[in-house]
Amino acid sequence: MEKQKRIQVLQDVVRIPSVNGKEAEVADYLSQLLEEYGIESQHVTYCNGRDNLVASLSTGEGKVLGLSGHMDVVSAGDEDLWKYPPFEAHIDSNRLYGRGSTDMKAGLMALVVAMLELKEEGCPFRGTIKLLATVGEEVGELGSEQLTREGYVDDLDALIIGEPTGYLLNYAHKGSINYTVISHGKEAHSSMPQEGYNAIHQLNECMLIINQKMDKVTETYVNEELGRTIHNITVIHGGEQVNSIPNKAVIQGNIRTIPEFGNEKVIALLEEIISKFNKKSSFPLELTIDYNKIPVQADKDSALIKTIQKQFDTPLPIVGGPATTDAAEFTKAKKSFDVVIFGPSVMSVPHQVNEYVEIDNYLEMINVYKAIIKSYLR
Ligand SMILES: [Zn+2]
Repeated sequence: MEKQKRIQVLQDVVRIPSVNGKEAEVADYLSQLLEEYGIESQHVTYCNGRDNLVASLSTGEGKVLGLSGHMDVVSAGDEDLWKYPPFEAHIDSNRLYGRGSTDMKAGLMALVVAMLELKEEGCPFRGTIKLLATVGEEVGELGSEQLTREGYVDDLDALIIGEPTGYLLNYAHKGSINYTVISHGKEAHSSMPQEGYNAIHQLNECMLIINQKMDKVTETYVNEELGRTIHNITVIHGGEQVNSIPNKAVIQGNIRTIPEFGNEKVIALLEEIISKFNKKSSFPLELTIDYNKIPVQADKDSALIKTIQKQFDTPLPIVGGPATTDAAEFTKAKKSFDVVIFGPSVMSVPHQVNEYVEIDNYLEMINVYKAIIKSYLR
């Protein structure tokens, strides 16, 4: 593929405003592009307007290498704050600006272009490349959850997720849990509290216990790469009027988990705290788990990581990353496989105004991906 076309396809995709909910347009674009090169693809619909896309390029037997990127982007926020409109894909010298340029349409398109060029070159590898383009990564990894549940990743031997890491190999990241606790009470005039039941008071007691128990978890368990469990109560609401006993109060918290004290254990601990609390209260607290993504810790010495290292004169640092990715869902597949998160641009750029990707970096990553694929599938 000509250099100009490599850049053009990235621009085309950045110009599709696939803010959570409009990924089908990206999937359509990709399937048309793949078809141009003689590669069939399959739309896996999540819901109206939201399609995942799966495509394979195979020479028959051999290993299966998955390549994955998400097609959704976060909102552009206040567009007036942008130097160039966020969905124009404006190029200014070596930078291509736009929402999603870094996170992660450059990674997605570098993987797609690598696949197309290898097809053009007559498939100089032995095995299968499997493209998995997902929906809703930014809002709960919806697409990867669906593809995993429906068996699309059961045949993988390895998976590269092209999220922005710069020249770092990310093999591990924390999990994430969001939870809500609702406290109900009974309204009364504040001069006669005995007539009511204070929802804030009860929730406050519960908060102290949650904080105490979670602090204990943070102190006790540590992961060499990812560090410790992080717990924060981040939202609090309650009460309507200063002279009324409140009948409702709500907290929400976020927990960043590590494999040493995994999500099931954290959730069990929260449930235990609430149920103990409820035994002595006539106004039971309600706990809901709103978001539940497990931590990922792949093999540092996997064949995939060794293959990537062979492409560079000096080995790339192998690190843990802060944020959850589609790997949290894909690694729930029936069979375990090697995973690495490795893609163009850097984590400091996404989700901000004036998000951009350096074009040289994008172009180089296409070549790097091709070399990795040929070397892994040989
Ligand atoms: Zn991303």
